[in-house]
Amino acid sequence: MTDARTLAPQLPAPKLVIDGQPVDPVEGGTLPVVNPATGQKICDVPSANGADVDKAVKAARRAFESGPWSKMNPSERGKLIRKLSELLWERREEFALVESMNNGKTFREAIRGDVGPGAGTLAYFSDWANKITGEVLPVDGPFLTYCLKEPVGVVAAIVPWNYPTCLLCWKLGPALAAGCTVVVKPSELTPLTALKLGTLALEAGFPPGVLNVVTGYGDPTGEALARHPDVDKISFTGSGRTARRLLQASAGSNLKKLTLELGGKSPQIILPDADFDTATEACFWGIFGNKGEICNAGSRVLVHEKAYDAFVGRLVERAQKMKVGDPLDPETEMGSQISARQLDTILSYIESGRKQGAKLLTGGERDTQGVKAKGYFVKPTIFGDVKPEMKIAQEEIFGPVLSCLRFRDEAHALEIANSTTYGLAASIWTRDVAKAHAMARKVKSGVVWINCFNEFDNAAPFGGYKESGWGRDLSHHALEGYLQYKAVWTKLPEGV
Ligand code: NAD
Repeated sequence: MTDARTLAPQLPAPKLVIDGQPVDPVEGGTLPVVNPATGQKICDVPSANGADVDKAVKAARRAFESGPWSKMNPSERGKLIRKLSELLWERREEFALVESMNNGKTFREAIRGDVGPGAGTLAYFSDWANKITGEVLPVDGPFLTYCLKEPVGVVAAIVPWNYPTCLLCWKLGPALAAGCTVVVKPSELTPLTALKLGTLALEAGFPPGVLNVVTGYGDPTGEALARHPDVDKISFTGSGRTARRLLQASAGSNLKKLTLELGGKSPQIILPDADFDTATEACFWGIFGNKGEICNAGSRVLVHEKAYDAFVGRLVERAQKMKVGDPLDPETEMGSQISARQLDTILSYIESGRKQGAKLLTGGERDTQGVKAKGYFVKPTIFGDVKPEMKIAQEEIFGPVLSCLRFRDEAHALEIANSTTYGLAASIWTRDVAKAHAMARKVKSGVVWINCFNEFDNAAPFGGYKESGWGRDLSHHALEGYLQYKAVWTKLPEGV
């Protein structure tokens, strides 16, 4: 991997991407984009208003109804998605550098966890474009009745800031493979790679209007998309708070369909016979990877009381060795939090942990040493003796703060694991695999990892139970969110 400090950042043009072209916003508003590791402005990008959103939706509608996209053979559609994937992979370092500067994540993580997997997801779904089949239905006759699977239409992809490229590709891959057209709304904090991807799609040969990008704040840009009567579906990743706004907007407009990928408070359950070496490393990266800004972060470690002291001791030791610093330095293990606001949120959770009586084992404060003084860095933080009802055990912090809890037996571990409003992911660590499978059935979450954590594959669905969301990203199941089914009946002649 190239040393990112030797690369020159290639920023996108400060234009919206609408109807096959980079364009200025109607009223010329801008929003500043900041490097959270230095606190310095990188550039300005357009802040789209309702009129810009309307232009983008109209372009997407034209491309969907009468443009070349609607007439393109599925295999050709697949080739274009594949081309976009290849271009993204070729330029992974260019994208990763911009992502790292804009998000504060390490350059290594930007390639390994964000841009690389994004390209992989596009490649996976490119192969699905000509494999979406309908079915002939065994109805009582005499009829020939079949079911067509048709694209849902114009999709608004509204995505967050923690994995800007990857999560966008999680939406684009299945939406484009299904034959939908898309208007992308990246987070106001990390709009750069979405703009770059929008122009890369034009370079790949996508027809005008198929992939549009509007940058701007949640309100008015996101709201305008959510309320637009000609958007058929919103595919959203973000917070539960915004998800509720989207539901209201859908109810107040055209009842557009929604897929919601939301937050988590994932438990890692450590039984006394677990392989401690592997589990320690997985618990460490499970919370401190991507600076804890991961929806499925393993933010609760539940340890059997017999193993608690030894296991938590190892974790603390590992956290104290973590190298926090310049995201572009290849030695750095953890970069900067995304913003001053997120830093304040994290510090206020740390304060609440202290006040509610959890035992601070390491970290617990902002890190302002050396080059970190101007950025939004937090020391890797671990709380012990956390009780399930404490705020730091219940709410998503979205930062490098781990809560360690004790349990008596498996039933107690499951009770704690299931005690939050979330249900995104969980892990179980034990050499007794039969026990692990029995426990996996009782965990209320969309993903359960046994003796591993944070494993992803394009073939495996990802999404949540309970308030962690509706619908799934990844795998062929994700396609269902972008398709609608049509039953076609033909009356057959009697007696033939
Ligand atoms: P957020 O909800 O604040 O913002 C997400 C997106 O919604 C942004 O593009 C934002 O501009 C937009 N938005 C905000 N208000 C809007 C409105 N009123 N109408 C339309 N759009 C609006 O979330 P965030 O802070 O960017 O991301 C963090 C959250 O995302 C966390 O809760 C995290 O768990 C969740 N997340 C979930 C997954 C998953 O796959 N389940 C993955 C990553 C992040």
